[in-house]
Amino acid sequence: MEKGALYLGRISGIRIYLHWTFAILLIWIFLVYYGQSGGDVQQGLLGGAFILALFACVTLHELGHALMGKRFKVETEKITLYPIGGVASMNKMPEKPVQELLVALAGPFVNLLIGALLWGYLTQIKGIALENLTTELSRLTPNNFLLQLMLANFILALFNLIPAFPMDGGRVFRALLSMGTDRVTATRWAASLGQILAIGFVFLGFFYNFWLVFIGIFIYLGASAEAYQESTNHVLEGYKVRDVLMTHYQVLYPSQPLQAAIDLLLKGQDKEFIVLDLNGEQVIGILTRNDIIRHLAEAGPQQPISEAMRRSFVTLAPDQPLEDAMKALLSNQSPIAPVYENGQLIGVLDVENIQEFLLVSNAMPPARS
Ligand SMILES: [Zn+2]
Repeated sequence: MEKGALYLGRISGIRIYLHWTFAILLIWIFLVYYGQSGGDVQQGLLGGAFILALFACVTLHELGHALMGKRFKVETEKITLYPIGGVASMNKMPEKPVQELLVALAGPFVNLLIGALLWGYLTQIKGIALENLTTELSRLTPNNFLLQLMLANFILALFNLIPAFPMDGGRVFRALLSMGTDRVTATRWAASLGQILAIGFVFLGFFYNFWLVFIGIFIYLGASAEAYQESTNHVLEGYKVRDVLMTHYQVLYPSQPLQAAIDLLLKGQDKEFIVLDLNGEQVIGILTRNDIIRHLAEAGPQQPISEAMRRSFVTLAPDQPLEDAMKALLSNQSPIAPVYENGQLIGVLDVENIQEFLLVSNAMPPARS
């Protein structure tokens, strides 16, 4: 189940959700069309209907990615529709450039196909001469509804093919580059182009259309995130928890006052701590810097640590892949985890440690590929 999202149904095993913020978009569109037509409810409903039709096309676009991915053993768990577009949650991206290329192209291709089908329907079956309709495109009417939808699909296809992350075009571009160089370098190039284009959009936006500024910022953030994630994935690959295990660390006990944690925080390097049972053998909780500060403000320094510590945390094994450990820590929002081997506590792993490891690895000249 997905939080804050309406379950719409499933298509070939992929669950489709509508995020609640979508309701805001619908209401907003209704009000815009209602207002612009001078209070015509029908015009408001028409605007809403258009958005729904458009998002049906966006769903098909995402299904295009998902079904193409399926051919390469990429599973898509769900598709979530947000006001800014759809997101297909795939368990991984195919790493073979040709496969990534096909998965990325499948989405925009669906929009081109829908556009072409609408074109065929309007001109061949309805026998409408398109140039007659284009004169009244400035306004959405029941008559030009399908024509507008056709244009919107062509625009969606083109927009998604902009060669910048997080657009599909960014993946297409990366896949093409990957054929000639390694994936990390290809990602870096594709992300750089994305950022240059994004800055161009922001710049143009100030002169022409302010929407371009938002689109530019959206692309810029997407490009940076993709570049970071790709380099992170790549660097962590092949390493185990054991490789970054910390064997020197501070521990706390549940009966100690919070003041003991504050002392450790102020005197040492550690920011997150594990809390041991009275025998000093088993970890029964973790205490993060944020927890310490929050509880200090709420209940003062004499409160016992057992009251302030978090009882839900991740436990790791030394031979677990570092990538999985990082994911577990991030999704559990615990910055620190005890590591056990054969029931024995052998050290701790913290997110900051992994990040330092990443920084060091990124600064090193590439040794593996
Ligand atoms: Zn797409």
